Amino acid sequence: MATLLWLRDDLRLADNPALAAAMAAREPLAIVHVLDDESLRPIGAAARWWLHRSLQSLGADLARRGQDLILKRGRAARVIPQLAAEVGASRAFWNRRYGPAATVDAAVEKTLAGRGIAVSTFKASLLFEPDEVMTRTGTPYRVYSAFWRAALARGEPRRPLPKPRKLPPPVEGVTGESIDALRLLPVAPDWSGGIRASWQPGEHGAAERLDAFADAVGDYGALRDRPDLPASSMLSPHIRFGEVSPFQVWHAAAGATARPSASAAKFEAELGWREFAWHILAQVPDMARRNIRPEFDDFPWAVPYEDDMWDWRRGRTGFPIVDAGMRQLWETGWMHNRVRMIVASFLTKHLLVDWRIGEEWFWETLVDADPASNPFNWQWVAGSGADAQPFFRIFNPVTQGEKFDPEGRYVRRHVPELARLPAAVIHRPWEAGPLELAAAGVTLGETYPLPIVEHASARERALAAFAKIGGKGGKPSP
Ligand SMILES: Cc1cc2nc3c(=O)[nH]c(=O)nc-3n(C[C@H](O)[C@H](O)[C@H](O)COP(=O)(O)OP(=O)(O)OC[C@H]3O[C@@H](n4cnc5c(N)ncnc54)[C@H](O)[C@@H]3O)c2cc1C
Repeated sequence: MATLLWLRDDLRLADNPALAAAMAAREPLAIVHVLDDESLRPIGAAARWWLHRSLQSLGADLARRGQDLILKRGRAARVIPQLAAEVGASRAFWNRRYGPAATVDAAVEKTLAGRGIAVSTFKASLLFEPDEVMTRTGTPYRVYSAFWRAALARGEPRRPLPKPRKLPPPVEGVTGESIDALRLLPVAPDWSGGIRASWQPGEHGAAERLDAFADAVGDYGALRDRPDLPASSMLSPHIRFGEVSPFQVWHAAAGATARPSASAAKFEAELGWREFAWHILAQVPDMARRNIRPEFDDFPWAVPYEDDMWDWRRGRTGFPIVDAGMRQLWETGWMHNRVRMIVASFLTKHLLVDWRIGEEWFWETLVDADPASNPFNWQWVAGSGADAQPFFRIFNPVTQGEKFDPEGRYVRRHVPELARLPAAVIHRPWEAGPLELAAAGVTLGETYPLPIVEHASARERALAAFAKIGGKGGKPSP
C-alpha cells in the first residue's frame, strides 16, 4: 500500500496540510508534480523559468529527507490515475485549487474514487475559500470592501503548520521525467539573466524574503506605493507558486508589529485583494477572456498599431514612468504594483488597446502571473472588472510619476539614458531646456523617444470611446 501526494501551486514543505495528512498515513509516499499544459492555460515563459527553479529547490529539500519528487508531464486526468495505479496507492492527497483548475481536480478525484482510492483535499492556498465568504443571501460578493469585511469577521486565519523534519520513504522504482526534460528554461536566446540575478525561487528564498519584509512591515502602509523604495514585500512569485502560504505570510506580518497596526492591516488587505481575485475567478472561470461587466463587450477598442505595441512592451513610449515599469518587467520578471496600474491604464486608455492584449504580455513576462490576479487586475484597471476602477479614471503618467517617484530614482534605475536629468523634468523630459538636455546627454527622438501620444488628446479619445458604451462608472452591488 502506498500514498500519493500531488503537489501543484504549493511547492513547500512547511504549512502544507496535504503533506501533513499524507505523512500521518505512515505508508511509502509518492510525491508528484505534473506539468499539465493541456488541461489549463499553459503558464507563461517567465513563470516557467520560476517553476524550473522552484521544482529544483523542492527536489533538493525532499532528497535531503530521503524522498523524491516525481516529475510528470501531460493531462492530469490521465497522468495521476496512471501513477496511482503504478505505485499501488490506496489514498491520494492534495491541496485544493480554484477556478478552472478545480474542474480538472474534480475529474481526477472522480476517476480515483471509481478505482477505490480515497482522496482527501485541504485548504492551503487561500485564507478563505470561495464558499466560505458569501452574502447573507448565499451569493458571492462582487464588491471588495464588503467581501473583506465578511472574510475578516470569520476570525483570524489558522496558525501555520511546522515543516516536517522526517518524511515517509519513497515508493521504490517509480520513474519520472528529469527536470530538464520538462523544457521550462529559455534557450536560444536565454533571456533570463536579469531574472536570475533578481530572485531566489524556492522555499528558502521565500522564507528569506518574508523575514526581510517582517522587519519592514511598519512602513508598508506609508510607503507601499513608492516604486523607488523597497517598501512592498516582493513575495508575489513565492506566493504564486506556494513556496510560502498566505497563512505563513499573514502571521509573520501580524506578529511583526508589537500591536495591531494600521500598516499590518493595510498589508493584510492587499492579501485580501488576492483572495478576492480568486473568489471572482471561481465565479467567472473564463475571466482572462470575458469582460466581467458585459457592457464592455461593445467597447470600441482600437486596432493596435504594431509599433505602439512594440514601444509599450519594450519601454519606449516616451513616458518615463511607463518605460521604467515595462523595462523592470522585461529585465526582472516583476513590476511594482503602482506602476502596473500606470502601464495598464496607459495601454487601455491612452492607446485604447483591449486589456486582453496587455494581460497576455504580463502572463508571458511576469514571474508571479497567476490565473486570478492577472486578469482580475487588468479588468480592474480597464473598468470592465468586479468592483473595478471606473474607466474614466485615467492616470496621467507624468503626475503619477512625480507623485510616486518624486526624485526620479526609479526612472533612473530602469531608464539609464535619462539618469542625468534633474528631478524637476525627469518625468517630463520634453519640457527640459536644451541646456538641461545637453548636460544630461539626452537627445529626444534619438537617445530617448518623444511621447508616442499626447496625454490630453488621448484622454479625450478614451472618454469618447467610453461614452459609446453608455459611459457609466457606477459600482456593482455587493
Ligand atoms: C495589471 C495588473 C496585473 C497584475 N497581475 C498580477 C499577477 O499576475 N499576479 C500577482 O500576484 N499579482 C498581480 N498584480 C497585483 C500586484 O501588482 C502584485 O501582487 C504586487 O505588485 C506584488 O508585489 P508584492 O509582493 O511586493 O506585493 P505586496 O504589496 O507586498 O502585497 C503582498 C501580497 O498581496 C498580494 N497582492 C497585493 N496586491 C494585490 C492585487 N492588487 N491583486 C492581487 N493580489 C495582490 C500578492 O500576493 C502580494 O505578494 C497585478 C496588478 C496589476 C495592476
